[in-house]
Amino acid sequence: MNYVVIDLEWNQPFDWKNTGNPDLCFEIIEIGAVLLNEERRQIREFSRIIKPQVYKRINSITKGIVNISKEELENGEPFDEVMKEFLAWCGGDYIFCTWGSGDLVELQRNMKYYGMKNLANGPFPYLDVQKLYGLEFEGKKSARALDHAVEALGIEQDVPFHRALSDAYYTGRILSEIQNEELLTRYSYDTYHIPKNRSAELHLTFPGYQKYISRGFDDKTAAMQDREVLSSRCIVCGKKIRKCVRNFSPGGKYYLNVAHCEEDGFMKSKIRLKKTDTGKVYVVKTQKMISPDEMAEIAGRRAHIMEVKRIKESLLNRSLKKDKK
Ligand SMILES: [Zn+2]
Repeated sequence: MNYVVIDLEWNQPFDWKNTGNPDLCFEIIEIGAVLLNEERRQIREFSRIIKPQVYKRINSITKGIVNISKEELENGEPFDEVMKEFLAWCGGDYIFCTWGSGDLVELQRNMKYYGMKNLANGPFPYLDVQKLYGLEFEGKKSARALDHAVEALGIEQDVPFHRALSDAYYTGRILSEIQNEELLTRYSYDTYHIPKNRSAELHLTFPGYQKYISRGFDDKTAAMQDREVLSSRCIVCGKKIRKCVRNFSPGGKYYLNVAHCEEDGFMKSKIRLKKTDTGKVYVVKTQKMISPDEMAEIAGRRAHIMEVKRIKESLLNRSLKKDKK
């Protein structure tokens, strides 16, 4: 399998209120990519500038980051033509690789805007090289800037940053520095298109954890009542197990719970609620085994949050009673 390392540059409106197009918040103006073979050696490059159709003036924010001249943009090609050429260039058996998780979403938004065929009919795997860099060189998920990583690895900085091809090139160089080959199976999943129905939902197994990507629900309440979203099946033995710390939300758009398997110990579930462009709510649930100490820590957090909630409610009730008097 080959690796298609892709990087995009995009432009945005000057002021969202008056000139922003809600169907295309970020207009892609450049696609750069390098193709690495199975041994992660670079074998070809792709670089095209796209003539903007929606935001024809370069935003100063974009200008500060990207070095593309007005003349270059004027001579660019239409997005759909570049994209068709690009997909043909990718060839058959490949996986997309990006720095961070934003590029493939914007790529697909632009494809949809121009009425192109979907890249995929549901979630598809890709490699987030930014995540792999963190796991390989810092021992954890981190979100380093590309130039930081290039500098830290002592990669020669012979082409300037913030042009699509150069950033794709550096991302490819970092990918080829990864020694732990197991990391090359730590796929991320693009969810621009979510599973269409229950039978298309994804149940993925990684070393040490499992991930579930649900179909779409009309709202959060419907998602949080679904039996698969709420279910706890031990990721070691597969048995249904009981929750010992019930669902709670520590803030933000996610929930935690802990279940207990008599044979294998404690299992944490993290339920993240996400929204698609079309307003559907879907769930990404990750489950992993944790130690009794971690279980106690989570139970403590839940108790604290419940206590704060209780105090707030009783204060509110008291003030309501006063108002009545
Ligand atoms: Zn078990």
